Amino acid sequence: MAVQYSQLANPNISTLKPYQPGKSKESLNREFGIEHIIKLASNENPLGASKKAIAAAKQTLDNIADYPDGSGYLLKTALSKKHQVDTNQITLGNGSDNLLAMICQAFLHPGEKAIIPQYAFATFGIVTLANHGIPQIVPAQHWSADLDSILAAIDDETKLIFLANPNNPTGTWISHEKLQQFLRKLPENVLFVLDEAYNDYIRDPNFPDSQALLEEFPNLIVVRTFSKIYGLASLRVGYAISNPEITDLLNRIRLPFNVSSPALAAAKAALEDQEHIQASFQLNQDGMKFFENELKRLNLEFIPSVANFITFDTQQDAVEVFQQLLKQGIIVRPLVPYKMPTHLRITIGLHEQNIKLIDALSSILK
Ligand SMILES: *Cc1c(COP(=O)(O)O)cnc(C)c1O
Repeated sequence: MAVQYSQLANPNISTLKPYQPGKSKESLNREFGIEHIIKLASNENPLGASKKAIAAAKQTLDNIADYPDGSGYLLKTALSKKHQVDTNQITLGNGSDNLLAMICQAFLHPGEKAIIPQYAFATFGIVTLANHGIPQIVPAQHWSADLDSILAAIDDETKLIFLANPNNPTGTWISHEKLQQFLRKLPENVLFVLDEAYNDYIRDPNFPDSQALLEEFPNLIVVRTFSKIYGLASLRVGYAISNPEITDLLNRIRLPFNVSSPALAAAKAALEDQEHIQASFQLNQDGMKFFENELKRLNLEFIPSVANFITFDTQQDAVEVFQQLLKQGIIVRPLVPYKMPTHLRITIGLHEQNIKLIDALSSILK
């Protein structure tokens, strides 16, 4: 070939390492022929989706020849009630990763920087590079984003700051007070992207009230997803909340039908199913306590987490442990892409799944 297409590409793409998703049940089944697989690798809701959400999605199937409502009117109206914001502050995304990409696309000029805490969610770096930006990694402290170092890292090229709160894969979090103090020091021309994928698992009064922060800080963009507690990961729905001017910009580049009709309908129904949300919350609380106790019992150091997963140190090559678990039909998440080679991340599952995982772990590690 005369033309090297890699030379034609956005130069950032040569350094971009694609996102490594959790191993799927299908691929484990293909490789090992295992039938009964427990997947605790991608922070999905172990109870699945709300029955009401599934029913709502099914209802739309008779009309899938029609384009979805590109304005997402009904879902946005429901979200505006939930968050006490105007619908002109909401942008819908095909998953929240779609919104993270849109934010970069709308705001990053070539060569501008996005500050990303060490150990932060991998997608932040990918969307930055894919949109001609430069990821600037700021070292963490005790596995958590270090807000003072982030402030110190800001310069004239800084356009965006990403923070997942709580963070994935560490489960660490920043309090309302700390975040507010930080945002007060942040220049208004630097946009702060607060990814609250796990927010519904936390009811600690010191956890940030992002609604209040949105009122105070026009440069704040809050991103939420239906992939976690709402159990709709495969339908791909997320949303951003921001000031109306930013929202308008995001909606200019949002592709017209980025959220499908089944996804719109299921998300709206999922929001309304408080019982399912409560059951999912409680299951997670109980499962988290179980894992904390069991990991302590096994003398495995873990990073205290408020999300629906917990990351612990296997004190050996974690990929080895991961593979041993695979042979027993259990999928967890090694964290090599995060340069945490001895850690594994496990999603809190159903009680019986949690027990099987701990039993398998203790037999492998002894
Ligand atoms: C899981 C997760 C998301 C959700 O991504 P979707 O694209 O909405 O499925 C976003 N941010 C973080 C930090 C996550 O862990």
